[in-house]
Amino acid sequence: MTRVNTVLGTISAAELGFVAIHEHIGYGMPGCELDSRWWKKPEQRYEETVPKLRKFHENALPWGAATFVEATGICNGRDIDYYKSLSDKTGVHIIASTGFVGGDTALPFFERASVEYLTDQFVHEISVGIGDTGARAGIIKVGVSRGFKMKELDLRIYRAAARASRITGAPIFTHLAVDSEPALAIFAEEGLPCHRVLFGHADDGVSQGKVNEKAILDAGGRIGFDTFGYDLELPDPPFWGRRRQERLDHFLRFLNTGLVDRVLASADANCSPLGWPGVKGHTVNYLFERLLPDLREAGVEASTIDRIFVRNTAEFLTLQPIRP
Ligand SMILES: [Zn+2]
Repeated sequence: MTRVNTVLGTISAAELGFVAIHEHIGYGMPGCELDSRWWKKPEQRYEETVPKLRKFHENALPWGAATFVEATGICNGRDIDYYKSLSDKTGVHIIASTGFVGGDTALPFFERASVEYLTDQFVHEISVGIGDTGARAGIIKVGVSRGFKMKELDLRIYRAAARASRITGAPIFTHLAVDSEPALAIFAEEGLPCHRVLFGHADDGVSQGKVNEKAILDAGGRIGFDTFGYDLELPDPPFWGRRRQERLDHFLRFLNTGLVDRVLASADANCSPLGWPGVKGHTVNYLFERLLPDLREAGVEASTIDRIFVRNTAEFLTLQPIRP
């Protein structure tokens, strides 16, 4: 059976339905929980989050189920018991990640951790569980620290992720697709096929001109168009925003040149951001409210939409250990 780890248990990939591959229940910089200005009561977090997930569930009904891949790694506000409760309340499958958004968001405790230590930690969280929550992680998060250049700790985390991915079969997704050459070298050295890696945020405004799409594609990697909705047309756009049409045209170029199976799409929205105000009005439901209508209007067929959000996501998320 094809197996995928959700926070409420291991299910078959066929049960995932419509998948948003890179989202956040709540992402924040480490330490934001110590700044009393940003404290939120549990009731407030539920109030901000539950309606968005319920709507997501409702929007995904034509696909049979809704799956929300939570891309907040260790140290950035990951809260497994909270995710379990949200999943139980809303019916949305939630997949939690192990790993880190980047070396620069790993707290000092992890800074000197060896590749072996990190590998063991990721493997444990995927195959045994995350602490005493009973939940297993379903994907591994890695990323490039600020500055668009891989730092030493980033590289150590990528190597540990590659090893953990081989052992457990969990896929990897990255924060940023820039400076991919050292990442591709590590995956090659560790014997991890790059179709198990989604190079994320290749579509955001600040990464344009800095992503070597050809190198990623040549190595077999997947390209993440996962910041849909962070449009410069918003009243108060974030610094990584991009013109809506420009991002869409970029995505359509992949679909129109036979590369539909090499891309995945998501909105990278926060249901209830931690330590920052978030981007008002942007939610995971952008995928249904704006992106799918935009794609249909551009002539993209329903079967292609299903490939992007159902078939290929299910294939990517399926645990595929590589036997030594
Ligand atoms: Zn993200």
